[in-house]
Amino acid sequence: MQKDPFPKFKALLKKSNNIVIVTHYNPDGDAMGSSLALYNYLVKTDKNVTVITPNDYPEFLRWLPGNKKVVEFSNNQKKAAAIISKSDLIFTLDFNNYSRLEGLGELLQTSTAKKILIDHHQQPDTYAALMYHDVKACSTCELVYEFIVGLGGKKLIDKSIASCLYTGIMTDTGSFRFDSVTPATHRILADLLATGILPSDIHSAIYDTYSESRVRLLGYCLTEKMVVIPDMQTAYISLTEKELQKFSHQKGDTEGIVNYPFSIKGITFCAFFSEGEGKIKISFRSKGKFDVNQFARKHFNGGGHINAAGGRGTSPDLKTTINEFLGLLPEYKKDILKK
Ligand code: 5GP
Ligand code: MN
Repeated sequence: MQKDPFPKFKALLKKSNNIVIVTHYNPDGDAMGSSLALYNYLVKTDKNVTVITPNDYPEFLRWLPGNKKVVEFSNNQKKAAAIISKSDLIFTLDFNNYSRLEGLGELLQTSTAKKILIDHHQQPDTYAALMYHDVKACSTCELVYEFIVGLGGKKLIDKSIASCLYTGIMTDTGSFRFDSVTPATHRILADLLATGILPSDIHSAIYDTYSESRVRLLGYCLTEKMVVIPDMQTAYISLTEKELQKFSHQKGDTEGIVNYPFSIKGITFCAFFSEGEGKIKISFRSKGKFDVNQFARKHFNGGGHINAAGGRGTSPDLKTTINEFLGLLPEYKKDILKK
């Protein structure tokens, strides 16, 4: 990142009034938290702002301040197109490649509005006029906090903005436990807590709202569906569409399940496969040096971070995808076992 990027950001913001914020497909806590934090901030600076998501997002994020104003592209395509065509500036948050937007990507591609990218994923694309990008940041929310402060807006960070930012930092760091968490992260969290938000309120709003069937789905995954391959230090879980239906699957229900096998001593690579909408969605997680971003990018049309990435099966068939994954393990054994 260049030394002081803020004069350029300030100049571009000054001449922009109609601002759109977009985030990635299947938005998570960091995607919605960063988008709505920036939304609430820009509204306070008298801008006309809309958050547009490619599709819907889980119930446990629907309390975030500003949530009711979000436009979901998948069921409001005309409205989203009209808003984008009138915009003079588009922020793209928590992703860095239009392929992460599904159909919404085409609208951005044809829009003449200037783009500002704020993101912490690897290998950003080059569509943005300006970028605030750092792969070392624990979350896009951390970057949005720095961005607001850099613009001189620290005093405008109120409880609404703070609860959005706290949410994204918490969800992208496994509740502050990953090595991406730095002293600076905790200083930011201290500033956020100083606004009066309560950590227990936010934690409960995100993690204590599961349905009974969601908790039972987790139990089923661990007792029936987890496959452990000790000599590869690998474990994976897969769910068919039928199984998901049996547990009345709702959006977001499978989030986080991929991490559970890490509780087994020695496991350093986890994968989670789920079947739905005619495709296989995959999550990869690693501990240590094994780069799942590269792995997902090379073999499963995906990407993300070194220790957390996602992708999709090259075939719409679950068994074929899992076999492809298993077939790749020997080639990567050395990397997976590396400390
Ligand atoms: P998750 O497994 O929770 O869906 O995603 C883990 C990380 O990988 C997130 O940071 C997410 O943004 C990224 N990610 C997930 N799926 C994809 C994908 O299909 N392509 C890319 N480039 N990144 C992904
Ligand atoms: Mn993120």
